[in-house]
Amino acid sequence: MKNVYLLGATGSIGEQTIDIIQEFPEEFNLIAISGYSSLEKIIEIGSKFNLQLIAVKDEADASVIKAVFPDAKIVFGPSGLSDLAVYNKDDKEGILINALVGMVGLKPTIDAIKIDRDILLANKETLVVGGHLIKELLKIHPVKLYPIDSEHNAIWQIIQGEDTNTIKQLIITASGGPFRDLTRDKLKNVTLDEALNHPNWSMGKKITIDSATMMNKGFEIIEAAYLFDIDIDRIKPIIQEDSIIHSMVEYIDNSIVAQMATPDMKLPIIYAMFYPKRVDSVIEPLDFNKISNINFKEVDYKRYPLLQLAIECYKKGGSNRTVLNAANEAAVSLFLNQKISFLDIESIVKSAVDNHKTVIDPSLEEIYEIDQLTKDSIFKRYNK
Ligand code: NAD
Ligand code: MG
Repeated sequence: MKNVYLLGATGSIGEQTIDIIQEFPEEFNLIAISGYSSLEKIIEIGSKFNLQLIAVKDEADASVIKAVFPDAKIVFGPSGLSDLAVYNKDDKEGILINALVGMVGLKPTIDAIKIDRDILLANKETLVVGGHLIKELLKIHPVKLYPIDSEHNAIWQIIQGEDTNTIKQLIITASGGPFRDLTRDKLKNVTLDEALNHPNWSMGKKITIDSATMMNKGFEIIEAAYLFDIDIDRIKPIIQEDSIIHSMVEYIDNSIVAQMATPDMKLPIIYAMFYPKRVDSVIEPLDFNKISNINFKEVDYKRYPLLQLAIECYKKGGSNRTVLNAANEAAVSLFLNQKISFLDIESIVKSAVDNHKTVIDPSLEEIYEIDQLTKDSIFKRYNK
């Protein structure tokens, strides 16, 4: 029985993780959760599990939750996320599942690594912004960091038992998002509802918008560079519209191995939770009788400038990834609140990166400072 400490329990990945825990009550014990927005969901989860710690947004929410669960430890704010990540610090079998959205997930991930706690990571922004810090920490802490993102989980499955020195390139598949058939000109008038209507996946709002701009694919390329310690020029995105192939690895003998499954995030979550064991499926099997073809399309970088920008920021190094992510978080939030148009997301992010003076090898404190400054200046300008 493994204890689970779950950041972002009320989100899309968090809820699916809880479903899995409920399906395997002999294997996992949910000990602690965090939730930022929905007190109803937190109360619902708390009524099903015997939670020892609950992390909420602020003091007001904490007092509401304390009244409902007087025996649990209630914490709040960013420090509450860290309290959760290191709760029961001597529990060496326990796992932290990080299903937060945004760079707010970076500090608790670092805190968990420092107490040698294994981590299942959905929160890709952590690696985008702090990949260099995590990489250094993993050299001195015996921590397993397992990816829940479907593409990275696919690559991880594919490279089992292989000599990673024989990898020629990683081929990361992309659905192309809801606007893959529109010209750039047509993107001027797309609505929020259209952007939120992803063709293959049902996900949280922020990652759904990131998929429409393909910033998500840029983030995933950076994520893969850190996770698999591979040169970014050897990571190639390709459009695979149905999301049946979740990624591929090409080896030096020109053999290409793909991982395929019905697009359902429960598979990568469950694979990471049970690794190295495989368990009976909880997802629909692929039915090849219903698939007439699997097609591929080259990615047009001009069509998706944020994908190109993400790769450039990684190559430039230093704090460019911090600014890229911060500006994107701010711009997506403005778009979700209908303060800006879809294409404004690109111009806001690009201008923030263009105007940034790089800090080499930023510390955690510098990252949080640059993040805040970048977001503040964008919100000040557009949030009227
Ligand atoms: P979501 O928006 O559905 O949920 C996010 C969770 O984080 C919620 O519990 C929310 O309350 C919490 N949260 C948000 N802002 C917070 C803050 N400032 N402080 C503390 N908590 C906060 O997001 P999601 O779709 O579940 O995605 C979570 C992460 O997983 C993201 O990094 C995303 O890119 C990644 N991911 C998601 C999917 C998917 O299918 N949803 C697939 C691959 C990767
Ligand atoms: Mg993904």
